[in-house]
Amino acid sequence: MNSSLSYEQLNKAADTYGTPLYVYHGEKIQGQYQNLLSHFSNKSTRFFYACKALTNIHILALVKNMGCNIDCSSINEVKIALHVGFDPANILYTSNSVAFEEIKEAVSLGVHVNIDSLSNLEKFGAAFGGRYPVGIRIRPDIMAGGNLKISTGHNKSKFGIPYTEKEALKSIQEKYTINISALHIHTGSEIKDVAVFLQSATVFENLLPDFPTVNILDFGGGFKVPYQPNEKGTDIALLGAEVNKIMEQLSTKMGRNLTAWFEPGKYLVSEAGFFITQVNVLKQSGDIIFAGINSGLNHLIRPMFYDAYHHIVNISAPEKELKNYAVVGNICETDTFAWDRPIASIEEGNYLVFYNAGAYGYEMSSNYNARYKPAQVLIKNEKSTLISRADNFDDLLQLQTPLT
Ligand code: PLP
Repeated sequence: MNSSLSYEQLNKAADTYGTPLYVYHGEKIQGQYQNLLSHFSNKSTRFFYACKALTNIHILALVKNMGCNIDCSSINEVKIALHVGFDPANILYTSNSVAFEEIKEAVSLGVHVNIDSLSNLEKFGAAFGGRYPVGIRIRPDIMAGGNLKISTGHNKSKFGIPYTEKEALKSIQEKYTINISALHIHTGSEIKDVAVFLQSATVFENLLPDFPTVNILDFGGGFKVPYQPNEKGTDIALLGAEVNKIMEQLSTKMGRNLTAWFEPGKYLVSEAGFFITQVNVLKQSGDIIFAGINSGLNHLIRPMFYDAYHHIVNISAPEKELKNYAVVGNICETDTFAWDRPIASIEEGNYLVFYNAGAYGYEMSSNYNARYKPAQVLIKNEKSTLISRADNFDDLLQLQTPLT
């Protein structure tokens, strides 16, 4: 659990900017990155922030300034990264189910490209032959990840080229003499067990002899962060030690210098984010007390989409006695953030903070029910800066052609 910003700082941000509000703590993001650097060999490991977690350009600038690379899942994320000033050599684009035009555009922008289907690889070979190095996303048939929606490596997953298709992969590579520089596996998100990453290493080991131009092994992202008090995340020290060892062994065995790449999203930003809401309505129904807040699935969909747990604290009166609440949103569907959750006794108007709101929080938000998206604030060196304003009524209409 993260307590990197105090209740006082969060209350002050809510009073200053209004709610609902996303607040991020810059030092926490930097600290997470430093923790990765301290446990992995700096000679043979590179980290690419999976920016799908949170793409605000001020966050990306912070990530760039701390020396981290960036992983993008769409061509527009690539363009945002370029806009922020990332060097194309530090940008990775991992495509899935995209039109080949998008891959061509990524090549024209000079970024690293991962391809995840034989179909697009064939088109890539026909267009570029061996002129542009490319990574291949492999589906390893490993079941891992916090829940099925975020498990991406199993044998029914849409992601990657099944490792069982090795011969087909080789034949396309040979036909066009494609320069395959990287093998990529992302088994899913919220992977606590270090052994899962080691299983990926075994899949790599089996493929490497057939792909002699490969010098990068990309293990994807998916490090677990703690969501519940006293919960443990992925043991980064252990993971670092194991991966350092395996990379050395594999480099020696294959007779080439292999580099490990990782694409952490949640690990860098989840705990740095706080979503502050305000209680509009308290409603007693039998023995349930509903706390209806000024937000809903339109702002933080993870509890409804993934049954994700977000710790909730009443920062207006944290010392009061605990009572159980159903925390619900104001959307026209059952948008329950938490059932039967012990929270310090709530009064209408109190601020409730959701922890672990940095990753896939604002980024998955929408204007559903014609409600405004919240503002975002970055706190760094004790100073808070508005990094995106809340929507206003004009924003809701701006893409629609006027009535005639
Ligand atoms: N890399 C790829 C290819 C992904 O699909 C994802 C998440 O969807 C990530 C990295 C980041 O995962 P996480 O935020 O769990 O680290």
